Amino acid sequence: MAEEAEWVTCPYERSHRVPALRIQRHLVKCEERYPPLAICPYNATHRMPHAQLAAHVQACPTRAALTAKGCEKPARAAAALTTPHPTLKRDYMAKNDPDDEQWD
Ligand SMILES: [Zn+2]
Ligand SMILES: [Zn+2]
Repeated sequence: MAEEAEWVTCPYERSHRVPALRIQRHLVKCEERYPPLAICPYNATHRMPHAQLAAHVQACPTRAALTAKGCEKPARAAAALTTPHPTLKRDYMAKNDPDDEQWD
């Protein structure tokens, strides 16, 4: 793990360079000392002026990751729904099944 090599710039004060692992705790302190920033709905460590929030949400890597995961399930469910239904097969087999006589 090379996580220690990751440093991020504090969105409240550019001179704050913080290890990525500590940014969350750092932001809690800075948000009390600096004017409020908009917080990304997908990742609380993504903070920016309100004017930039809409553009950020479009490009947010956390959102992209969440959306990619969310899309997998509906795709599989749809595939299951489109599997051929067994009606034809049952009709065909009924001709070889003596018990099927009771249905007529
Ligand atoms: Zn800071
Ligand atoms: Zn974000």
